[in-house]
Amino acid sequence: MTKDILMNKTASSSAFSEQRRIQHFKTTRTICGYCGVGCALDLVTRDNRIIAVHPAFDGPANEGALCVKGQFAYDYVHHADRLTYPLVRGADGQLRRATWDAALERAAQGFLDVMQKHGRHAAYGVASGRTPSEANYMMQKFIRVGFGTNYIDNCSRA
Ligand code: SF4
Repeated sequence: MTKDILMNKTASSSAFSEQRRIQHFKTTRTICGYCGVGCALDLVTRDNRIIAVHPAFDGPANEGALCVKGQFAYDYVHHADRLTYPLVRGADGQLRRATWDAALERAAQGFLDVMQKHGRHAAYGVASGRTPSEANYMMQKFIRVGFGTNYIDNCSRA
């Protein structure tokens, strides 16, 4: 009898702590950006960090399945080596931290120099499979409208 009460008490307190733990999780439905299949998935986050990826069972393209890349390759998001500020190469060949304005100015000048020397088809854009669809849409607009060329692809194929 005493043992049953103790077991029930233990079970209910562990269920309570499990419930509290789950309350800190957040899921966000999104689309895997790695390839053109477009599998639907739920990103599980805690304290604004991705801790798991769950396949969406109602995803029309994947119906509850993900390949190994879509399922597990998310650790780069919070990796310490990830570039979080611009770097500009100096005359000595060394990369140094720069402001966004300085970096964008340098990049724009580089694009202009190449286009003036070799024409608009000298530009070729490679969009990233690790960015949201909206960012890839902007990338193709940037290449097509900004440079006047259709030389745009993504890293899954390039
Ligand atoms: S989970 Fe795999 S197959 Fe599905 S979109 Fe991502 S990379 Fe492509």
